[in-house]
Amino acid sequence: MPTRIAIDGPSGAGKSTLAKRIAANLGFVYVDTGALYRSISLAMLRKNAVSDAEIEQGLDGLEISFRHIDGQQHVFIGEEDVSDLIRTPEVTMNASRVSALPAVRAFLLELQRKIASEQSVVMDGRDIGTVVLPDAEVKIYLTASAGKRAMRRFLEMQEKHISTQTYEEVLADVIRRDQQDMTRETAPLKQAEDAVLADTSELDLSGSEQLLMKIVKEKLGA
Ligand code: C5P
Repeated sequence: MPTRIAIDGPSGAGKSTLAKRIAANLGFVYVDTGALYRSISLAMLRKNAVSDAEIEQGLDGLEISFRHIDGQQHVFIGEEDVSDLIRTPEVTMNASRVSALPAVRAFLLELQRKIASEQSVVMDGRDIGTVVLPDAEVKIYLTASAGKRAMRRFLEMQEKHISTQTYEEVLADVIRRDQQDMTRETAPLKQAEDAVLADTSELDLSGSEQLLMKIVKEKLGA
């Protein structure tokens, strides 16, 4: 029986970086569920699907999948590798919009569960511990203050030259996305009752990794 580690939390809390490291430490597969929502977002922008009905229709025949290339997870729409294209601010903001739709969540639910049933995973997202894998062996709710999260995202975007947004614009986006993710009716972002809270506001990457590994080891009794 595979082991499942669910890491949920708001954007910019360090989920993907930390989940990747935890997965590498344990020899588990890292699954970035945000990439699935981002791919749907990109597909809908390309189709000009804006209204709920248009988005629902746009799901018809849409094929989203993960493939591993040189040990890295890549996300595909059909046969196209969209791993880099899904990281722009436009796709990011629209991901929050499309992910609020029940039809979109239902579309991705089975895929996520299937992946977690085939191998031990560290899966990060917003509703992994509450909806996707309610029986996960380890659940962590990873967070940090909005200011700290925006600063991390801002520095990352500057380093990768993927955006010309100012810090204030990134902070406004972070706050808006939190608000959208936390107040939507279907699968809102919230801490599962049995999740351990990890606040990384005052921790650097290595401190955060140590904290998470400690939680995982305690939960798995390792
Ligand atoms: O984690 P990431 O920033 O890549 O996620 C992009 C968007 O996808 C989030 O703002 C959120 O709205 C949505 N999402 C979600 N449920 C997940 C993962 C991501 O609703 N499990």
